Amino acid sequence: MAQTDQTLRYTKHGWKMIREGERGVFDLDEPEWIDDNKFDRCQTCNSNFSLFVRRHHCRRCGKLLCGKCCHSKVELWRMGFMDPQLVCNTCVSISQVEKELYSVADMFSKGALLMIEENDRSFGHVSKFYFDINTGVIEYENKPMSISTASDITCRMTKDPISGKSILFSLSFRAIHDVDEVKLKLSVSAPEVENKKESMDWLSGLRLAFSILGKTVAISS
Ligand SMILES: [Zn+2]
Ligand SMILES: [Zn+2]
Repeated sequence: MAQTDQTLRYTKHGWKMIREGERGVFDLDEPEWIDDNKFDRCQTCNSNFSLFVRRHHCRRCGKLLCGKCCHSKVELWRMGFMDPQLVCNTCVSISQVEKELYSVADMFSKGALLMIEENDRSFGHVSKFYFDINTGVIEYENKPMSISTASDITCRMTKDPISGKSILFSLSFRAIHDVDEVKLKLSVSAPEVENKKESMDWLSGLRLAFSILGKTVAISS
């Protein structure tokens, strides 16, 4: 898979890893900060700003907030920041989900063995599946395609009735590949998939990637 060149640069809000060339699908621009003089109250809790209630800006949404509503520091890897940044209480949870995606980036690039059905036709063998977190491109059987155009995403999980743990996992979606629409079903259920746990984690990661891109993942069991 293609490697993207990145450079470390010092910006007004701290050290950032800047991607050269094409913009990554998960890249997020820094928000415009709300002007200090625009509000004299916190945009969330309405507390009056004063000498004791200082103004803070959330680095993820740019809102003007008090210290109670904006005090946590989290990684904002989608913006390329190297160090944790100040974010508001609302942005903390979103940022943590996004952080999860980046923590599995290595796992994505190593790929996973999955059983694939392409347009309801199975290849008849397990295939290695890769996902590039920078380009948003998945690749199998030497066919690369972008997940940013994917739609009709469904995730199915079957639970073991005794342990309650997920035992089968499949994810299907419609992608645009060349001019034809391709419907893919990726599954770990076949006996040929030896390390089911690893492949299942990989699929969960892909599901997370879809949801971060704002694509609704319909879940059925
Ligand atoms: Zn507040
Ligand atoms: Zn925020």
